[in-house]
Amino acid sequence: MRGVEGLVSEVEALKRRLRAVILAHNYQLPEVQDIADFVGDSLGLARKAVESGADVIVFAGVSFMAEMAAVLNPDKVVLHPNPCAGCPLANYLSPQRVREVRSEIPNTPIVLYVNSLTRAKVEADYVVTSASAAKLISRLGEEVVVFGPDRNLADHVSTVTGKHVLPLPPHGHCPVHEYLLNEYYVAKALAENPGAKLIAHPETPRKVRAIAHAIGSTSQMLEKIKGINGKVILATEEGLTYRARKLYPSRAKEIIPANPLAVCVDMKKITLMDVLRSLKLMKHRVRVDPEVARRAREVIERSLEIIK
Ligand code: SF4
Repeated sequence: MRGVEGLVSEVEALKRRLRAVILAHNYQLPEVQDIADFVGDSLGLARKAVESGADVIVFAGVSFMAEMAAVLNPDKVVLHPNPCAGCPLANYLSPQRVREVRSEIPNTPIVLYVNSLTRAKVEADYVVTSASAAKLISRLGEEVVVFGPDRNLADHVSTVTGKHVLPLPPHGHCPVHEYLLNEYYVAKALAENPGAKLIAHPETPRKVRAIAHAIGSTSQMLEKIKGINGKVILATEEGLTYRARKLYPSRAKEIIPANPLAVCVDMKKITLMDVLRSLKLMKHRVRVDPEVARRAREVIERSLEIIK
């Protein structure tokens, strides 16, 4: 039976032969992060895919992320190692509901979080990441904006921009951030680590964000750690802790997950074996309807125009 080293060298050899690149989200399993050419957040990875010049992209993340990579790289082969890895947050909002809201409250901009279904994105006016949401919404002329599908991020953006941000749907949330990173776990982590600085993802509930030293997307969280010495508690999916400890091995920083059980089971569905199988069998090819992909690129480009 092959050990991890055997799997890794097989993946490396296939990667070279196929001119492939492996992109992994910050929440992936450690062994998948380690084999990746780039680790980052969804939009950062999709951009890396464009820049990489590779013929084949293996996207280790949940399905909407792999679709984004396919949308932005229509001429490349994009493979998703495990199509069962979906995102419960994205599933909260159907394209039909976005169309209904547009006719119920016309002339109100509809902004969607990148953590949404591709077919829902194409019905929106703008698409943002957690890093760019407040910036884009603050630059819109309108005072009332529809935002979905994460109600916590909608609330955060409303606090930062002072605008009336209507969450769509009213109850959309990431189960990991909502239930496993609520005030109970975060207060416990703070009590066990006196003096630690808390950095929270904006998908966490309001009570957690209210006591955070800083709030930001996964990339922003990694950036904020740079300026802190001593203990740092990360209130987000636990995979980011592995990434952060690798980036900052100095003993001057102690990086602690707010809850080590805050695991996104979908993100963890992709194993090293899945990555190997993906390259060997060229599976599972991500195919986005060309017209849907064209419309999605239009929404993304419109959004990037505003935040540049
Ligand atoms: S952590 Fe939450 S938002 Fe991210 S993929 Fe998992 S369920 Fe979706």
